[in-house]
Amino acid sequence: MDEADVLQRARAFVAGVDTSNIQTDLCPYLVAANAKVIKEEMGKGESGSTITTPKGKHIIHVNSLESERRQRFTVCHELAHIVLGLPSTHDEVPSWSFSKRDSNEVMCDLFAAELLMPYQQWLNKVPDGDPSLEVIEFMAAEFQTSFPAAASRYANLASIPCAFVTMDRGMVRYAARSTTLRHANARIPARTPVPPGSVAYDIRAGGVSGTRVDEVAQDVWFENWEKGLDMFELSRHYQPTDTTLSLLWFDEEDLPEVEVTRFGVRLVDDGGLAELTGELPWPSGKRRR
Ligand SMILES: [Zn+2]
Repeated sequence: MDEADVLQRARAFVAGVDTSNIQTDLCPYLVAANAKVIKEEMGKGESGSTITTPKGKHIIHVNSLESERRQRFTVCHELAHIVLGLPSTHDEVPSWSFSKRDSNEVMCDLFAAELLMPYQQWLNKVPDGDPSLEVIEFMAAEFQTSFPAAASRYANLASIPCAFVTMDRGMVRYAARSTTLRHANARIPARTPVPPGSVAYDIRAGGVSGTRVDEVAQDVWFENWEKGLDMFELSRHYQPTDTTLSLLWFDEEDLPEVEVTRFGVRLVDDGGLAELTGELPWPSGKRRR
């Protein structure tokens, strides 16, 4: 099961449910999945779990000591395990510990994001223009979800080149990308150190929680990327868990002028299609460093 399968199944599930009040009430999803929620005090770092009765009813237990938004995410994550039929492997692993989460867990998080922030409603509500701290916080409040969940959703559904990177303990864990960045083959490899020169690197090196926006070179983040092009990076660091988040974005006209074949090979149009050499005659009008 890959990401595309998960998105398709999540959207099919959402399409069969009345989602008009889903920001305040997840019950329609629970009914559709033959599940109910029991809130109870659980240990620190435990978010939730599901048991299935002999009659096939799914009982989702969520930790009532966690925030309301976190509980909503947990319920949708547990629904993902139920609907996708994926076994749970997070019994002993705190949800923020990206490094220990296996691919089933990542897939369930993707599914949960589709349920919490149905894409048609998201597109109707997302403000025009560039992202900002305020925009992400506004969307997180609208959909009663966490800042990282809203930022990731923002990147996935943005019309401009945009990515959202989650990092923990100085390592890149996961990057969500907009369609334009996926098509441009802009890769941010997982399981690599946070790149020096990024806002995330600097802010983490400071050793205190905080948020900052700055301009950085695109090739600081993207693998095998053209030099000389800039973008914005909004980064937030949480020192207690050593978790760092970055939202990256730029105008579509600041994309490198290359094409990517359907095999993922990047080509440049210089009269005929030639393989990229890294030494390109750049047209004027681009923002260069
Ligand atoms: Zn799980």
